[in-house]
Amino acid sequence: MPDCRLSCERCGTTESRSLQDAGFGELLAEGVVKIPCARCGETTLWKLVLPPRQEPQPRSAKGPRGLLLIDDDPDTLRILQIMLRPEQYRVVTAESANQAVERLQTEDYDVIVSDIRMPGFDGRSLYRFLACFLPEYTSKVVFLTGDHSEKTLRFLRECNCPYSFKPIQLHELEEKIQEIA
Ligand SMILES: [Zn+2]
Repeated sequence: MPDCRLSCERCGTTESRSLQDAGFGELLAEGVVKIPCARCGETTLWKLVLPPRQEPQPRSAKGPRGLLLIDDDPDTLRILQIMLRPEQYRVVTAESANQAVERLQTEDYDVIVSDIRMPGFDGRSLYRFLACFLPEYTSKVVFLTGDHSEKTLRFLRECNCPYSFKPIQLHELEEKIQEIA
């Protein structure tokens, strides 16, 4: 398990803490975990501290951007693979966040475009996983979602990632991708 940067919601103490599997699962799912706080002297709620957003670097590499596209809806994956031109994007798809994590362990990508609502390990969990294990990728995520719920809108404000709503608006989505790479 990685050391996660956490902040006690009660006293504001920030620490790197190593979590047990169960605690890490809770943190990924909820963005918060209940663990003891030495300063508060009891178990409190700790929030994952998200890494600061890195300014996008000017794109130096020539050729298509490596783009990891994550959506549990195969139609969305297929449509985007057709719409995103191969001269500009080398698209690799994943039908789940778990599959995306496997892909990220074997290959580098310039941009990650991810759905938010997915069964199991969702886009929010994926983002928190990246914050703990692959923080350099947190500045490379664009969310693509049809979910306008308050929970999702709050998450988008907190993570400060570029996003675009479904139905897919290709021009807007490409602008968000190009903000990153
Ligand atoms: Zn505390």
